[in-house]
Amino acid sequence: MSLTCDDLDTMLPEFLDGSITADEATLAAEHLATCEECTAELNELEGVTKLYREHGTMHLPDESRKRIAGSLGISEEL
Ligand SMILES: [Zn+2]
Repeated sequence: MSLTCDDLDTMLPEFLDGSITADEATLAAEHLATCEECTAELNELEGVTKLYREHGTMHLPDESRKRIAGSLGISEEL
């Protein structure tokens, strides 16, 4: 299963306030790793950085984490 841009858009509010589930977060991360548009949108909202800081133990694939961190210009030390 993978998310569409619409799916991710729907999830953004939960994503931003940290109420997203771990499974949803993983799906969102997988989508973000391959979708520059959604990454840019989320980056604009400054939500991912906050989420990472609050959920430093999120179990994301290293590849996704690196891509997201890189695209956000934040440290991988999450
Ligand atoms: Zn997308």
